[in-house]
Amino acid sequence: MKLKPLLAFLIWCSPLFASHHQPNFVIIFCDDLGYGDLGSFGNPTIRTPHLDRLAHEGQKWTQFYSADPICTPSRAGLLTGRYPIRSGMTSAARGVLFPNSSGGLPQKEVTIAEVLKQKNYATAAVGKWHLGHLPQHLPMTQGFDFYYGIPYSNDMAKIKGAPNYRAGAEDPDYYPDFKDFDVPLMEDEKNVEWPADQNTISKRYTERSVQFIEDNKDRPFFLYLAHSMPHIPLFLSEAFRGKSIRGLYGDVIEEIDWSAGQILDTLRRLNLDIKTIVVFTSDNGPWLSFKTHGGSAGPLRAGKGTTFEGGQRVPTIFWAPGIFPPRVVNEMGASIDLLTTFASLSGTNAPMDRKMDGYDLSPALMGTGRSPRNEFFYWNRAVLHAVRSGPWKLHFWQNHPVTYSRVHKLDTPELYHLEKDISEAYEIATANPDIVTYLTQKAEMHKQDTEGSLPDQNGALIPGFKYRR
Ligand code: MG
Repeated sequence: MKLKPLLAFLIWCSPLFASHHQPNFVIIFCDDLGYGDLGSFGNPTIRTPHLDRLAHEGQKWTQFYSADPICTPSRAGLLTGRYPIRSGMTSAARGVLFPNSSGGLPQKEVTIAEVLKQKNYATAAVGKWHLGHLPQHLPMTQGFDFYYGIPYSNDMAKIKGAPNYRAGAEDPDYYPDFKDFDVPLMEDEKNVEWPADQNTISKRYTERSVQFIEDNKDRPFFLYLAHSMPHIPLFLSEAFRGKSIRGLYGDVIEEIDWSAGQILDTLRRLNLDIKTIVVFTSDNGPWLSFKTHGGSAGPLRAGKGTTFEGGQRVPTIFWAPGIFPPRVVNEMGASIDLLTTFASLSGTNAPMDRKMDGYDLSPALMGTGRSPRNEFFYWNRAVLHAVRSGPWKLHFWQNHPVTYSRVHKLDTPELYHLEKDISEAYEIATANPDIVTYLTQKAEMHKQDTEGSLPDQNGALIPGFKYRR
């Protein structure tokens, strides 16, 4: 064992650690990054050396799920440790929040930042928020000390007369003008740039993140870095343009990889790598309707907006050298497990006054046991589409694999064995009636368990709202 990992292990084992030293947490959360978009997850043409090193020194989780296949509910699930149906953040009326939405993550929800605040963590949200942009819903009201980023998706508030990006995506080299998207950049509660210059946004998120780590190197911290990329419209700094043979999308991912390298270099330089846990993941699968401007789900079926595996199984890495043994984890995990897991690792508790959906993954992370997660419920627009238990997945509802329109209830549920059939290609319900019955009952019990959830947040509008331009 090298000296630094040995030191980390000794600090971790020390009784002092539990009482006085909490680990730092960093979540690097991409927007619409697909399962097949990193070198370490099999991409042949996008270079991601920093993230590949993260996977090599850490743990690559191959069956890790985002809470939901679209932005707003996925973020609500990650930060609260609950399926977004419980917080009212998934909606049949509207999938996500828009600039004219009045709703947001309810105050009574408890976020990871608020859990860690009990242990006096410094907390920062950098990047895309998308959990409500009115003052009562911004990160500062949900346990974050600092916020720097855009409050909703980077394609929202397209100005009148601007070119249609969908048409542009037919051209692999199409590069949009950030001024066509009237999206503000915020610092805490203030708009500091409007429209945000998205060309440099990944770079500036990175600089702010590095600054936050440096400023808080002597106390425990939680950094939630939610990149607005690679959600379309794709933007990136000059230095990364035209570099990837994968084209513009590859260039964007290579800048995100650079960004991760900057964060890791900072942790190493400050000797914080021995007490920092980094999680890299994505909010949902690739946006396939944007062709070469969207990512790849690799071997998985479909993409963003669907409850096929391509919509919700996301490339995920846990890194804590000397604490988590490097390995590939083929067990299940989910973004809704992070709150419970971080609470466990920091010696505090997840909320006990409400129904939580997260499991403590620390036995699997520490290499002392298996992941306790053995099931997952796939919600989409407030409808339970599918359920997984062990290797079996049963679909009740589906939608179009690319456009995610045409939502429909299946006449008879479809069953797949995900370990033998990663692509959900071979439907086997007729041959396995007992499994179908078991999963149907499991889904019904889960639906009953979510009754009494908070009311829909995504459907509410700001009266008389008008776009700026
Ligand atoms: Mg997304």
